[in-house]
Amino acid sequence: MKIICVGRNYLPHIKELGHKVPEQPTLFLKPDSSVITRNRPFFLPDFSQQIEYEVELLVRIDKVGKYIQEKFAHTYYHEIGLGIDFTARDLQKNCIEEGNPWEIAKAFDGSAIISQFIEKEKFADLNNINFHLNINGTTVQSGNSGEMLFSIDQIISYASQFFTLKTGDIIFTGTPKGVGKVAINDLLEGWIEDRRMLNFRVK
Ligand code: MG
Repeated sequence: MKIICVGRNYLPHIKELGHKVPEQPTLFLKPDSSVITRNRPFFLPDFSQQIEYEVELLVRIDKVGKYIQEKFAHTYYHEIGLGIDFTARDLQKNCIEEGNPWEIAKAFDGSAIISQFIEKEKFADLNNINFHLNINGTTVQSGNSGEMLFSIDQIISYASQFFTLKTGDIIFTGTPKGVGKVAINDLLEGWIEDRRMLNFRVK
């Protein structure tokens, strides 16, 4: 199982980090060792002083595919979830400045928080899904899938040129603006529409 993540998929988030608007999806991977499920706690690692949350809609692939055309991409997934793409922002900045790969900032143990999944048929329109993240009861990020630069189907089509998609692979579709640092004892609650999908603590 692999995790494919899209960076820089919401304009206001691209601006808050001072990046350039991409012409193609910016992709990176996380290994299976990065996964935390079932609302188990996230332990702050020692190697970073700036672990930031990024709440994102997730898609679970349920069919093997390569070179998937955009018009057929919807047949490769049937479930939507919510996740946190934890990022060691201090390490990531160094990696970008040095021109180095950024796995140590993005793919470390515990960096992929994954919720349970919901059948996509439960949503009237996949391009109009609201989601948000609360920390200690205050909303810090909110987004709508319609604001994505690259849609789920475009991401699947693009990514499948490079990586064969397999059953159980998960796609992190990018984060809206409002990313910020987490601290010990923070309570993170993530919502898709009015369903609470995530509910865990930082330790
Ligand atoms: Mg992200």
